Amino acid sequence: MARTKYIFVLGGVASSLGKGIISASLAKLLQSRGFSVAIQKLDPYINVDPGTLNPYEHGECYVTEDGAETDLDLGHYERFSNVPTSQANNVTTGSIYKTVIEKERRGDYLGHTVQVIPHITDEIKRRIKLLGNTGKYDFVITEIGGTVGDIESLPYIETVRQMRWEMGRDCAVIHLTLVPYLSAAGELKTKPTQHSVKTLLESGVQPDIIVCRTEKHLNENLRNKIALFCNVEPSSVIESIDAKTIYEVPILMRDENLDTEILRKTMMPLDNQPDLKKWEEFLYKLNNPATEINIGLIGKYIELKDAYKSINESFIHASAANECKVNLKLIHSEDIKESNVAELLGNMNGILVAPGFGERGIEGKITAVKYVRENGIPFLGICLGMQCAVVEFARNILGYKSAHSTEMNPDTKYPVIDLMEEQKKIKGLGGTMRLGTYPCKIKKGTKLYDIYQTLTISERHRHRYEFNNEYIEEYEKAGMLMSGINPKDNLVEIIELKDHPWFVGVQFHPEYKSTVAKPHPLFVSFMEAAIKTMKKKN
Ligand code: GLN
Repeated sequence: MARTKYIFVLGGVASSLGKGIISASLAKLLQSRGFSVAIQKLDPYINVDPGTLNPYEHGECYVTEDGAETDLDLGHYERFSNVPTSQANNVTTGSIYKTVIEKERRGDYLGHTVQVIPHITDEIKRRIKLLGNTGKYDFVITEIGGTVGDIESLPYIETVRQMRWEMGRDCAVIHLTLVPYLSAAGELKTKPTQHSVKTLLESGVQPDIIVCRTEKHLNENLRNKIALFCNVEPSSVIESIDAKTIYEVPILMRDENLDTEILRKTMMPLDNQPDLKKWEEFLYKLNNPATEINIGLIGKYIELKDAYKSINESFIHASAANECKVNLKLIHSEDIKESNVAELLGNMNGILVAPGFGERGIEGKITAVKYVRENGIPFLGICLGMQCAVVEFARNILGYKSAHSTEMNPDTKYPVIDLMEEQKKIKGLGGTMRLGTYPCKIKKGTKLYDIYQTLTISERHRHRYEFNNEYIEEYEKAGMLMSGINPKDNLVEIIELKDHPWFVGVQFHPEYKSTVAKPHPLFVSFMEAAIKTMKKKN
């Protein structure tokens, strides 16, 4: 294999322009030409990982196979490329400093003064090259969080400058900026882009390609103007127009030749054309649904678009598979009471109770579970959602009125969900949950076996509490089956109801594994059940 090429994606003018989607789209395009690609996110904040961040701060925390708690952009990388990411794909300033300070304490710097340049930048460089040095990738795409000009981003941009200097054509820099439309003037404005590139130049980095996020098409004059002011070729000014869904962006980038430009800049062969047939089929199905259903997503962060990102995207993948549009209605768990549950959930064809932590909104979730259980509405409970289903069943079927999870009530007489043994001695909160992939054995003859069509699955976890095995027998006798068990430590991973059209709770997070190429079977099956109930009702 030729030397790995390093592509950097830096953002300017404003945040939230979609660096993650541009990086994932580029990866998809290069991959569809036959190249192997890894994507990585560098985050300039001081937290060691986003695991301890609340969703209000940073949206969803995404979990990799190897149990890293990471930025949600890694979810996009996996959903687009269908390649699992790992610990090495997400780096934060906190984790860089932690390593450097640990080395200093060990005495590795032999009495030298430890400084941002070269020690911090060397560590950043080492993390960037970790993926390239595996010899597995033609391209490593590195997305740098934040916006050019931020104080926190400076060591990263300095590292890009050094790598460009050292590696020449084995490196390329993409700068994603905003070209705003001023409706009063009826014009697109290039000045913010010019300023952003100037700021980048002050740090010694000349972008090779400028991707312009815009709501109106860029004409040739405008492209030429950006090229002239920013020292790039006109063909390297790429338009990134607002799209109906993020899944259209790879097609838009192909039409704008983003991949060809990158191949040209890094002197890589241009012979293969990207094969996006499957991707286009997916888009066609997504855009031409035969039916429509309403799914209620019950959580406590519903005012926040990114809090349940992977669940949202899993529904989109399952939508295409079922050729059915999902109207995902976010319902605040704190709003749900016995008195209004029928009114809030009555029109839903399926209900998903979301993962979460802590007491807030828990009774609303349990009330919702009772309603869907009694009314035969398809139900999927994920992690805390599954635990709510277990508590509800104890209270209303087994007759243990005060049953609860010990997370919410440590003194409950009926701890049907309890802290895992291994968790009892843990004190710190960072990176200490049961994280990452674990195997699960599925019992034959269960609904879950029909769904997965296999006896062993592996799924990703992020939790501290679990089903309390002392109650297994009682539950199974009363009709709640433990249909998936971790073979090593006997933890209950899946529950299902015998006498219900579709009622499943999973201790793991299926949403982290759903991709465009492989929609998750649980979401696909849940949607099928919802479509069935919808048809019956009409
Ligand atoms: N709070 C629960 C636990 O720690 C559920 C976690 C989750 O939903 N991810 O077990």
